[in-house]
Amino acid sequence: MRYISTRGEAPALGFEDVLLTGLATDGGLYVPESLPHFSLEEIRSWRGLPYAELAYRVMYPFVEDAIPADDFRKMLDETYSVFSHQAVAPLVQLDTNEWVMELFRGPTLAFKDFALQLLGRLLDYVLEKRKQHVVIMGATSGDTGSAAIEGCRRCEHVDIFILHPYQRVSEVQRRQMTTVQGDNIHNIAVKGNFDDCQRMVKESFGNQSFLGGKTQLAAVNSINWARIMAQIVYYFQASLALGGPDRSMAFSVPTGNFGDIFAGYLAKKMGLPISQLVIATNRNDILHRFMSGNKYEQHQLEHTLSPSMDIMVSSNFERLLFDLHGRDGAAVKDLLERAAKGPVSIEDYRWKHARKLFDSDAVDDKATCDTIRDIYEQNEYLLDPHTAIGVRAARNCRRDSAVPMITLGTAHPAKFPDAISESGLVVKPQLPAHMADLFEREERYTVLDNSVSEVQGFIAKHWKNA
Ligand SMILES: *Cc1c(COP(=O)(O)O)cnc(C)c1O
Repeated sequence: MRYISTRGEAPALGFEDVLLTGLATDGGLYVPESLPHFSLEEIRSWRGLPYAELAYRVMYPFVEDAIPADDFRKMLDETYSVFSHQAVAPLVQLDTNEWVMELFRGPTLAFKDFALQLLGRLLDYVLEKRKQHVVIMGATSGDTGSAAIEGCRRCEHVDIFILHPYQRVSEVQRRQMTTVQGDNIHNIAVKGNFDDCQRMVKESFGNQSFLGGKTQLAAVNSINWARIMAQIVYYFQASLALGGPDRSMAFSVPTGNFGDIFAGYLAKKMGLPISQLVIATNRNDILHRFMSGNKYEQHQLEHTLSPSMDIMVSSNFERLLFDLHGRDGAAVKDLLERAAKGPVSIEDYRWKHARKLFDSDAVDDKATCDTIRDIYEQNEYLLDPHTAIGVRAARNCRRDSAVPMITLGTAHPAKFPDAISESGLVVKPQLPAHMADLFEREERYTVLDNSVSEVQGFIAKHWKNA
């Protein structure tokens, strides 16, 4: 399998290089040159498989040039055995033909574990083979950082430095990052905001001379192809559990950077019958505005009760735009260069095609809280605010009540206790038993000034072989 850039100018790469590369050299994102396609008969034959085995069937075509089948199977067994539920991605029923798929049974209680637990193992495997080392540098306002740290804690060939804005992430989220012990794990609290952290990461990727040529940076943000790939699997899992592929499914996906829902779109293209995909956003609704009115335009960032979806642009949307433009990289490049300067639209027939593929809704904090409260009162089931947005959008956009509607449950409610109390419920979400002592664990992080040279100096000094 070869991977090509959405902007059409960077060289095509194999899986190993795509794994180790962030952005393509032309500024685009890598996508598979062609997708595997599974027949209904083949998908049907996967009924009842354990999650890790299903993951193997769905993903192997993407990695087969780089990893022997047995090694990949072993890696997947290890990856999904760290989840705290035997089904890995269990379904919970909310109402007649309405479900939540709980994707928060991994080590950091958010769906990002599905991809990052695998990504850490993939990186270490490829780096071992190549006798190479990388430094992962990332900025986080919460979920990504902890999932990345957990995913890389046992990697021998990776040092990880995660920047978070000092005193501006929730205590649960900070502790999930800072209590993970390991010589290769470095948390940096920057005296600035999330944008400052992100800018430093971007600048460092642009000029890596501070590493003295002895190692290189790698990215684990949601533009990494391997993350998208890992997220395709659970769409198959949910469908098979509810009678697919002999009936089609609808999915509602709480969306920020368009990674998780793009994986659903790929599952459909790979042969899974999906009749509806709902993009569920919070007030940071650039995608909903595009879907409703064919205008792609950045607005100011708003802080909401669902912080993991607080974005101004959706980086993975570029991957969809590439398909919408008949995979014409030059057209995507032109569009996104214009989009960086002001609002853009696409040709009407292309936009109409996007409208056929996706429905969308934007849910504000009040409606989020109302949904958390309603579902608790009806079912004694607690939703986290991100999942609540998905459930709300699912109900608002539903087209056919005979089709099972599955909302992706992206985080455990105990990660976001503020939203639960704002919804007026007196119940306190409990951390699962394996994390109950989170508030007693020892924390380790370094506070640094809002200065890129200080951060780079720290990294240069602290990676393993420095
Ligand atoms: C990251 C995240 C999202 C958004 O996922 P994207 O792939 O960026 O669309 C939604 N909910 C939670 C809890 C997250 O951590």
